[in-house]
Amino acid sequence: MYLKCLEVHGFKSFANKIVFDFHNGITGIVGPNGSGKSNVADAVRWVLGEQSAKQLRGASMQDVIFAGTENRNPQSYAYVAITLDNSDHQLALDYEEVTIARRVYRSGESEYLINGNVCRMKDVKELFYDTGIGKEGYSIIGQGQIDRILSNKPEERRELFDEAAGIVKFKQRKNETQKQLENERENLVRVNDILAELE
Ligand code: ATP
Repeated sequence: MYLKCLEVHGFKSFANKIVFDFHNGITGIVGPNGSGKSNVADAVRWVLGEQSAKQLRGASMQDVIFAGTENRNPQSYAYVAITLDNSDHQLALDYEEVTIARRVYRSGESEYLINGNVCRMKDVKELFYDTGIGKEGYSIIGQGQIDRILSNKPEERRELFDEAAGIVKFKQRKNETQKQLENERENLVRVNDILAELE
């Protein structure tokens, strides 16, 4: 699996639609300070479900939408799509290519799409569990992140190893099941209370 293509429109400094085609191998992005190199990595992180404006170097989520310049009006929405080559079927979808897209409007309305079908953020996250690519993955190492990883608490550092070992989805399912069990236990207590009152 590798990143084939990134499409950005109205995201941060990219007012116009711009398409980056990547090939199997190494791609370097160079440019002067402030020209938008980090915004490219931010776009990938954002489309994968980043919810923290701070992680995207903004104050609010609306800051990802092109804010306008002296000569250009602001955009009303930001759109990012990444296309991954899935010919090795590392992603559990029966497609050779998988496109994940995210759009957000100034009104706050937003949507995620997997291969053109509207889906939940949860679906995007689950698709990437244990691939190292998700928002929590280690495939995008931002500025200062190495320092953060090294100074993280051991439990937080362990999350990276869990992702690499491919056990995140099982842990996630275990947590969900435990929550359901807890709810059922509470329901049982309530049922028993009602039964006791009726008796
Ligand atoms: P450096 O080499 O200094 O790290 P860079 O090439 O990585 O710089 P970025 O940090 O990606 O540059 O881009 C910063 C630019 O993006 C700034 O000029 C900033 O004004 C612009 N920018 C960020 N958010 C928006 C937005 N919402 N609308 C318009 N421009 C934006």
